[in-house]
Amino acid sequence: MDEKNARKALVEVCQLAYQRRYICGTEGNFSVRLADDVVLTTPKGACKGRVQPEDLVLTNINGELLPNSLNGNPSTELAMHLTAYNIRPDIKAVVHAHPTCAVGFTVAGVALDQAVLPEVICTLGSIPTASYATPSTKEVSDSIEKYVKEYDVMMMDHHGALCLGSDIWDAFYKLETLEHYAETMLVAHLLGGVKPLSSEQVRKLIAVRGVYGLARPLPQEFVARSTN
Ligand SMILES: [Zn+2]
Repeated sequence: MDEKNARKALVEVCQLAYQRRYICGTEGNFSVRLADDVVLTTPKGACKGRVQPEDLVLTNINGELLPNSLNGNPSTELAMHLTAYNIRPDIKAVVHAHPTCAVGFTVAGVALDQAVLPEVICTLGSIPTASYATPSTKEVSDSIEKYVKEYDVMMMDHHGALCLGSDIWDAFYKLETLEHYAETMLVAHLLGGVKPLSSEQVRKLIAVRGVYGLARPLPQEFVARSTN
């Protein structure tokens, strides 16, 4: 995707995320890797519901502003995007948001990593929760590092969600699936509890994962836990 179209798509995703209340105020940050050493990202302190293509900021892979980037500074949380890009060459976009229901699960200390919905198992796999880290500090990058290697979607305890994608829409759809899953889990909890799928059902799902275009294997930890 060229820079002009990447700016347009990034703004569309920012506005959708804001409208769907995955973020509020000036929360959240989004980025696209345009080239090996060029990242297009949202500016610090901006409301993503009102951001415009020309407001987006260009940095190198170390987070330093590029000379042709005229507007503002990147988010203080860009560091975790860069950690993901450094570890995963296959990742071209990162979305960080604070979806109410999924974050509520981390606040309540309830994990989202059970094998419950076929669609989620086939697309996202398991959703781990990284331990609590002080926002906007290096602790955040340290806390997600081990999960980024194996997972495309992860929760950050008492904070938010991080979704990695092959492009910005892929990352956004993962965020959408995550929050929808959390809402479904909440309804199940309200109605008396979550009943996970059986190991046989999970085994069959893992076998058909390729149908969903997923080349990456499921994390071994999740496979072992689901099929015991
Ligand atoms: Zn955040």
